[in-house]
Amino acid sequence: MTTNARAALQSADPEVAALITAEEERQQQTLKLIPSENYVSAAVLEATGTVLTNKYSEGYPGRRYYEGQQVIDQLETLAVERAKALFGADHANVQPYSGSPANLAAYLAVASAGDTVMGMSLPMGGHLTHGWKVSATGTWFRAVQYDVRRDTGRIDLDQVRELALAERPKLIFCGGTAIPRTIDFAGFAAVAQEVGAVLVADIAHIAGLVVGGAHPTPIGHADIVTTTTHKTLRGPRGAMILTTEEYAKPIDKAVFPGLQGGPHNHTTAGIAVALGEAAQPEFKDYAHQVVANAAVLADELLARGFDLVSGGTDNHLILIDLTSKGVAGKPAAKALDLAGLETNYNTVPYDPRKPFDPSGLRLGTPALTSRGMGEPEMREVGRWLDEVVAAAAGSDSDELDAVVARVRGEVTELTGRFPTPGVDG
Ligand SMILES: *Cc1c(COP(=O)(O)O)cnc(C)c1O
Repeated sequence: MTTNARAALQSADPEVAALITAEEERQQQTLKLIPSENYVSAAVLEATGTVLTNKYSEGYPGRRYYEGQQVIDQLETLAVERAKALFGADHANVQPYSGSPANLAAYLAVASAGDTVMGMSLPMGGHLTHGWKVSATGTWFRAVQYDVRRDTGRIDLDQVRELALAERPKLIFCGGTAIPRTIDFAGFAAVAQEVGAVLVADIAHIAGLVVGGAHPTPIGHADIVTTTTHKTLRGPRGAMILTTEEYAKPIDKAVFPGLQGGPHNHTTAGIAVALGEAAQPEFKDYAHQVVANAAVLADELLARGFDLVSGGTDNHLILIDLTSKGVAGKPAAKALDLAGLETNYNTVPYDPRKPFDPSGLRLGTPALTSRGMGEPEMREVGRWLDEVVAAAAGSDSDELDAVVARVRGEVTELTGRFPTPGVDG
């Protein structure tokens, strides 16, 4: 936030201003290891916090239901053109409020209530909106779900094909929220084509890696690509849908008027800025460094005896099964948070424990890489993870407190050496 704007907030509402300042300090002083999070640049932050929030713009550029769109039409067109160029897509819609509504739009565009749809199950690494039972997508549609193999922790496309041939889904989702391995978009496309299904690639987690050339692209394979803009793509909280020419109209109609009213124009501005940043050569370096950092961290964890789902990672994300360490995901995540290492507890495939108290810990390197951290820092993070998890697994609470306090101090020393984008400039 600009200095003047912060001063205005400070005098108008010191309570909220103090909370924002506290969150800035928390983000500066902790290691953000949650793989779906990142730090946006000061430019994205500035674009997002503007008077664009004041404007209603139901419709699309040149076809609006409100007057006064002289500027907004240019802005949305700019964001759309940048998205199309960056991903190499025929069509882009930048209006979805977030990843979940973007996925709903894909259903609404190509399926009707009660139709059979297919996605990866949530405990195996899929997203809620890929047909999981507690999601609207699992109750309004007849959702069938594919898994990962128990022995490899990886998707088996032969099993996906068998299920698709037996169930004949209208649409197939690929992609997910806890998948540490490369997604075979061509393989999914072959299955979808064989059964006459529409293929939706949800690249929410990996969009930044895709545009940076560090993960294969779904463009040319998937009919519809959905993504959030706030994970590895490093934009504001929001989403986009990229489609072939064939699905352009159905997707636009599904987003508005199918699901939403006015687009969040301040978010559109932030997305446009983030897409501009992602088109710079430095972003390619960033994406490759995210993957290189994850490989080093995985290596360090494996050397320390951690059990990683699928045996490692190809991307930005690591999923640890803590069973062999003698502690569950939640107590480990809570101890790590106290020590300044922010992760999230997560189910692992075939988890015998409950979703609210599962066996796994999910982490990733996008945010630390945005702060400029590299291999030496990843090795230190691996050591801290090991030390805190070991102490959390023990029964000596004084020992745990001592380890947490020592690691907290070391983390603070490290974070002090790496500026926080958007906060320190
Ligand atoms: C994060 C995520 C979403 C949902 O995004 P929200 O913005 O939280 O609604 C959808 N799909 C996948 C694969 C995700 O990782």
